[in-house]
Amino acid sequence: MANIQNQPVLCRWGENPCGITLDDISSAGINRHLTDTHFPAGAWHDRTREACQWQVNKPDNSVQPCNTEMYMRNFGKHIATVHLRIMQKICSECGAKLSRGDALRRHRAGYCPGPNAMPGANVSSGF
Ligand SMILES: [Zn+2]
Ligand SMILES: [Zn+2]
Ligand SMILES: [Zn+2]
Repeated sequence: MANIQNQPVLCRWGENPCGITLDDISSAGINRHLTDTHFPAGAWHDRTREACQWQVNKPDNSVQPCNTEMYMRNFGKHIATVHLRIMQKICSECGAKLSRGDALRRHRAGYCPGPNAMPGANVSSGF
C-alpha cells in the first residue's frame, strides 16, 4: 500500500463529505455512491430536482456547495464532468485526455502518438 502516486478522487458531497475514495467515477458509479451513502433508502428519485451538494472551492478560498439544481439522476454525470474534470489532464502533444497527472506522464513516456495524430482519434466513443 506504500507509494501511492495516483491522486485519489475523494467524495466531497454534503456539508460533511464522507471522504471516501471514488474508484468508479463514471456517472453510474457516482450515482451509485450517492444513493448508497448519502441518500437514505427511498430518498433518491431520478426525476426529482435537487441541488448539487458537492463542495467546491470558491475564488475567495471559501468552500461552498455547488447548489446547481438538476434532476437527481443527472448528479453523477454532472459531478463527473463539472467537478471531476479538474482532475483531467490533456496531453499537449496529441490531445488525449488522461485522468491523472501520473497517467499523463506514463502516456507521454510510452504511448503518446505525437503531434501528428488526429486529436481525439483514440478517444473511444463509449456510450
Ligand atoms: Zn460520499
Ligand atoms: Zn455540482
Ligand atoms: Zn499524447
